[in-house]
Amino acid sequence: MTIITLPLSLPCYSPFISLSSSSSSSSSSSSSPKRIRFNPQSSSQLSPNTSSPIQTPSPPSLPKTGVIVIGAGLAGLAAATHLNSNDIPFLLLEASDAIGGRVRTDIVDGFRLDRGFQIFITAYPEAQKLLDYQSLNLQKFYSGARIFYDGQFHTVADPLRHFLDSAKSLANPIGSVVDKLLIGSTRIRVLTRSDEDILSAEEVPTFELLNKLGFSDSIIGRFFRPFFGGIFFDRELQTTSRLFDFIFKCLALGDNTLPANGISAIPEQLAARLPSGSILLNSRAVSVDLDGVVSPIVRLQSGEVLTSELGVIVAVEEPVAAQLLAGRKGPVQKKPVRSTVCIYFSANRDEIPVNDPVLFLNGSGKGIVNNMFFATNVAPSYAPPDKALISVSLIGLFEGESDDELANKVVQELSGWFGEKVVGKWKYLRTYRVGYAQPNQCPPTDINKNPRIESGLYVCGDYLTSATFDGALVSGRRAAECLLKDRALTPP
Ligand SMILES: Cc1cc2nc3c(=O)[nH]c(=O)nc-3n(C[C@H](O)[C@H](O)[C@H](O)COP(=O)(O)OP(=O)(O)OC[C@H]3O[C@@H](n4cnc5c(N)ncnc54)[C@H](O)[C@@H]3O)c2cc1C
Repeated sequence: MTIITLPLSLPCYSPFISLSSSSSSSSSSSSSPKRIRFNPQSSSQLSPNTSSPIQTPSPPSLPKTGVIVIGAGLAGLAAATHLNSNDIPFLLLEASDAIGGRVRTDIVDGFRLDRGFQIFITAYPEAQKLLDYQSLNLQKFYSGARIFYDGQFHTVADPLRHFLDSAKSLANPIGSVVDKLLIGSTRIRVLTRSDEDILSAEEVPTFELLNKLGFSDSIIGRFFRPFFGGIFFDRELQTTSRLFDFIFKCLALGDNTLPANGISAIPEQLAARLPSGSILLNSRAVSVDLDGVVSPIVRLQSGEVLTSELGVIVAVEEPVAAQLLAGRKGPVQKKPVRSTVCIYFSANRDEIPVNDPVLFLNGSGKGIVNNMFFATNVAPSYAPPDKALISVSLIGLFEGESDDELANKVVQELSGWFGEKVVGKWKYLRTYRVGYAQPNQCPPTDINKNPRIESGLYVCGDYLTSATFDGALVSGRRAAECLLKDRALTPP
């Protein structure tokens, strides 16, 4: 598959993510106007093919296409995949310099840095249908977590996968024995319901559900708040109980994993299956016009105009969709959106304090760290052979604090966990501040939102379903299905 970059006079600017780094050498892809070839083996995603730069990327030569999909995150890629499998021609426009949206990995001095801590749960139902897990070479986390509380680490473990650890954990202070039995009954409760049932059930904030189920304040504060708060980027646990139940079910059925080549291997796999030349990078859409025209028209920031014969699927983040669709009955954004900061450090591999592929949670209720892990214990390929990669996540954006201040605070805090001698040797690598990590998914939610804005215009994205990889994939398929149905193109 070939991806083409259009040379744009204006630099692409994303208001949603910023990064800073101690290192000057990064192999994340450049936005130079080169013809580039997609290389699914490499987590740098794109490597310039200098032998074939585009000399005259004349937009008029761009064919009028069947469908225009705007945004090459998981939702847009899923929509494109579905159109492709129905033999519908399409053009996938991406504003930035690579595909993947929020699911990207940078390579910095041989370290694979996912743009924020992300885990792929193998039980995601839509992902199972779309992805080839084997070639993702998924590396598993320990099924449980280690919680820092009262100056010590305590393990919580999945009894079905780590029976002994789980039995030993019954007496720890993370929760009472009743709490641990309640986790078992919650598992049965979610496993006996269908996903459709879970995602359309009566809803309350997760915090309320946990109270209602009888969990104690101890386990809510020491385990659920950092664990699910880290998944929802919402330590208050105001996120809908529908999402809690869905994720709980997926966790019970599947493994937490990382692709060996970085989280970006997931969108890269989808992109690699699309036809040659079907993705245009550095191509920011600024308006979509349907009114009074036979074929919907998409204008790019560069001034170029593209027309589609069948329709347009808008697969961008919710705030951008609201702008692009201004004046139409589009998405109404709920606030606040969910944000996170991810800080990476490196260390010598033989000097890290643990070798387990386990997620560490802050159950102390103090400090700024929510969770952290030694990424190379899960996926050794995330760093050069003798190095370890350490990933630390905070919830929120910490706008008032500089990267240096945050990194210093993290080092100080984790020195209390692992010892000053150990943490003092860590080398700061990079900070990612993700302003728009997830949409707000507090009740009331509608996880089955209609993707149809009007005939010929459709939306998809995680804000229409669940703010997960799976939700984004589902929404992309639904938008494509809706367009095909409207155009009477649904296969018999
Ligand atoms: C740090 C972090 C951690 C996460 N952890 C997990 C996790 O562990 N498990 C999980 O299931 N989910 C996780 N998520 C959520 C998951 O990544 C998202 O729900 C999902 O990737 C959203 O995909 P999307 O396609 O809807 O949106 P996006 O990925 O945001 O894609 C939108 C695309 O549209 C492009 N675009 C925007 N404007 C324009 C324009 N005008 N013209 C052209 N293109 C445009 C953008 O550049 C982007 O590529 C995490 C998210 C973040 C940020």
